[in-house]
Amino acid sequence: QPVPAPAAASPEVFRLGFIGPGNLAESIARGVAASGVLPATAIRTAPHRRPERAEAFSSIGAHILETNAQVVDDSDVIVISVKPQIVRQVLVELKPLLSEEKLLVSIAAGIKMEDLQGWSGHRRFIRVMPNTPSAVGQAASVMCLGEMATENDENRVLGAATMVNKTGKHPGQLKDMVTSPAGTTITGIQELEKGAFRGTLINAVVAATKRCRELS
Ligand code: NAD
Repeated sequence: QPVPAPAAASPEVFRLGFIGPGNLAESIARGVAASGVLPATAIRTAPHRRPERAEAFSSIGAHILETNAQVVDDSDVIVISVKPQIVRQVLVELKPLLSEEKLLVSIAAGIKMEDLQGWSGHRRFIRVMPNTPSAVGQAASVMCLGEMATENDENRVLGAATMVNKTGKHPGQLKDMVTSPAGTTITGIQELEKGAFRGTLINAVVAATKRCRELS
């Protein structure tokens, strides 16, 4: 008689907070909840003066808090998902609240690990750059670990990066969601739309990289 397989170990549940409940944060949060990486109730954010962002997140089933400080206090893993030019201000503001057990993840384009650690005074940091094709199930993310980030932290973020896979949205819809004016993505897309795809694709990567460096 075959012996029944033991029940799968329940996946590790941690509380995932978003500082900056924008388009990319929503996309990741939806991916997390839809794929079952975490229950939606493990997700939290604060709307930062935009009630419609609270609605977007509460429609997923996430907890809505009032301030960034509350999000930090109530999360184990904190994703910094504000625009790159706001990252410094946010990290300086949150610095006094960042105890050692918190893992921070930045998805901000062009903000270097050195700056992330310097502004926050926090070493348990991961910088990850999720990409748009993740929307169609082909995530390719570049990840950089901070000085105190552990192997376990790396596995969690890998999780965070994979989460973006399962949003169930049309790629065009996602493209609109993730392109910011003068951002890296739209700079790349502009090149795509200028000419024939293959050569243009190469230019797009070069242009996006250049813009990323300009933002650093
Ligand atoms: P977005 O403008 O949709 O989201 C930013 C959110 O931050 C908004 O909801 C805004 O209200 C909120 N916010 C502003 N100031 C705040 C503050 N002080 N505290 C808390 N929240 C605040 O932008 P997005 O397109 O989701 O991009 C977010 C980040 O993701 C950027 O840093 C970008 O570089 C990065 N990123 C984007 C892409 C992409 O494909 N667009 C890919 C990888 C990484």
